[in-house]
Amino acid sequence: MKPSRFRIFSTDRYRITLPEGHKFPALKYGMLHQILQKEGLFHLEASPLAGREAIALAHDEEYVTAFVAGTLPQPVMRRIGLPWSEVLVQRAFASVGGTMSAALEALEHGWGATLGGGTHHAFRSEGAGFCVFNDIAVTIQFLRSQNLIRRAAVIDLDVHQGDGTAEIFQDDPDVFTLSIHCESNFPFRKKRSSLDVALADRMEDDAYLAHLEEVLPAPFAFKPDIVFYQSGVDPLASDVLGRLSLTPEGLIRRDRRVFEAARRHGAPFVLTSGGGYSHPIELSAQAHANTYRTAWEVFSKANPA
Ligand SMILES: [Zn+2]
Repeated sequence: MKPSRFRIFSTDRYRITLPEGHKFPALKYGMLHQILQKEGLFHLEASPLAGREAIALAHDEEYVTAFVAGTLPQPVMRRIGLPWSEVLVQRAFASVGGTMSAALEALEHGWGATLGGGTHHAFRSEGAGFCVFNDIAVTIQFLRSQNLIRRAAVIDLDVHQGDGTAEIFQDDPDVFTLSIHCESNFPFRKKRSSLDVALADRMEDDAYLAHLEEVLPAPFAFKPDIVFYQSGVDPLASDVLGRLSLTPEGLIRRDRRVFEAARRHGAPFVLTSGGGYSHPIELSAQAHANTYRTAWEVFSKANPA
């Protein structure tokens, strides 16, 4: 029996089909699932579907209803960038359910993880950039509605700004949002996070890590009751939608710093995956796998069985 604290959640059973040449790396999730399953560090579980009431804590009901029914106007679906299907609807609910489950694990065992989530471009009343619902925003609102937490912090290291998350929480004094991203990249109209670090194109490992080091204490100094990590691997040099030049080792160092800071602080920690669009896509799947392995190394040391 695997110890229950290493349960992680996966949306792999909901496989969307996309037209040839589509930019969304649907295959990556299956690859990541397979790599981690083979290694046996984690007990992979299907993400439960989030409830409609939970989703509505962070999104307009009208948007949720129209998305479920497949009646969103074409321009709105185009901004999401994925063709509507029943499976897409299930996957969107499962993706939020995975993050909610990981957060409940984190509150109980110190950390939790989901192989998905980090859909940070979703706003209150519309999706964008392959993001339908904002899983982290929904989860924070859900945990607060249950009086399980008061304050939360979001550390978003995807190469793209966490604009949806920033906007949803822009006037919320109990949520701290940090986004470190590439300045010239999507989204072209940035929102204001509590703390934004906009990096120049083609930045490499050491310079990137110096920026991270400088701002990483801030979300912890906020004294959050829970910390969410959007661990996008699209800062990799091989990423076709990123513009930074990190190596796989640089990303491991990045993740280790975040995990060790969380461990030192002791706040429950939730790991979500975020973006990754390397060519070939195996490089993104491998980089995501490194993130989960590194988390296991750092957090299992913190909580020996
Ligand atoms: Zn991204």
